[in-house]
Amino acid sequence: MPGDSELHELIIVGSGPAGYSAAIYAARAQLKPLVFEGSVTSGGALMTTTEVENFPGFGDGIEGPTLMAQMRKQAERFGAHLVPDDAVGLELAEPVKTVLDSSGRSHHARVVVLAMGSGYRRLGLTGEDRLSGRGVSWCATCDGFFFRGLEIAVVGGGDSALEEATFLTRFAEKVYVIHRRDGLRASKAMQERAFANPKLQFVWNSQVTEIVGDQRVEGVTLRDTVTAETRQLPVRGLFIAIGHDPRSALVRSQVDLDDAGYVRVDRPTTHTNLDGVFACGDLVDSRYRQAITAAGSGCAAALDAERYLSGLS
Ligand code: FAD
Repeated sequence: MPGDSELHELIIVGSGPAGYSAAIYAARAQLKPLVFEGSVTSGGALMTTTEVENFPGFGDGIEGPTLMAQMRKQAERFGAHLVPDDAVGLELAEPVKTVLDSSGRSHHARVVVLAMGSGYRRLGLTGEDRLSGRGVSWCATCDGFFFRGLEIAVVGGGDSALEEATFLTRFAEKVYVIHRRDGLRASKAMQERAFANPKLQFVWNSQVTEIVGDQRVEGVTLRDTVTAETRQLPVRGLFIAIGHDPRSALVRSQVDLDDAGYVRVDRPTTHTNLDGVFACGDLVDSRYRQAITAAGSGCAAALDAERYLSGLS
């Protein structure tokens, strides 16, 4: 198979805060990392948002794409080699790892850092992407602050939907919880807490069929799942909390995953079950899912990789 004949010290797969932070640390350690950034958009989840107000160091906030462009520039400045392509195949079991790019070329390294992130599940509605950061959000911790004093809605019926909704009542005047059925999947304790919260109002047997708004969210259209009647609910924000999928399909048969598909690491390190394979960011994290925690674990993965490589020499 054709390929690059160099044996790299380190290949990083993914270009969000985790991948770029790993690249910055690895490049500054003279490891000359090769970074597969992905073919569609480099920069990860923050490329789809506007203002990021909780990443430390930016007192006035920073646009998501600007923050990611800065991380990218910083990685390149220290010698990371950035490849705007997908890793489409990985062979990770042997001491020399192989990464296949989309043209079928193979690239070899002693270490691979997995930083492919996770994708929020979408409703699949027109306007959902266009209004992302303009009233549509997948992250209450990130965006709740923008909805002070407003009426908003959360879609979902599991623990994380109720957690998000309860958190949002700190800011919003009223939070509607829209659920397709007439009962919740969330734990009993979580349900009791939510039912006792006067700012939460449950909208049962309802499905969002349309997000209304041109420049920003002005409401949603709901369809009753029993009667098929439709109605409008005027809200200024829509938080979608129907789950996320870690992008672990590529490594499923090789590294240990948990039941939800997140890559298992030997915490507090970033070691996977395979020697020389480290994982970081939202790919391993079903709990915090923040840019700063992803960046922190990317840093940890580079430090773990560096120690592993010095143990080989
Ligand atoms: P990601 O950012 O998901 O990056 C992974 C990258 O790897 C992607 O670019 C992907 O295309 C690429 N990739 C995947 N597979 C491959 C492959 N096979 N080959 C090559 N590349 C691949 N967090 C905050 O802290 N503050 C906020 O304000 C905030 N706002 C958000 C707003 C939105 C709309 C979203 C969706 C998320 C927000 N988050 C926020 C969460 C934050 O963006 C994530 O926690 C963080 O980006 C996770 O970083 P990551 O590097 O693990 O993964």
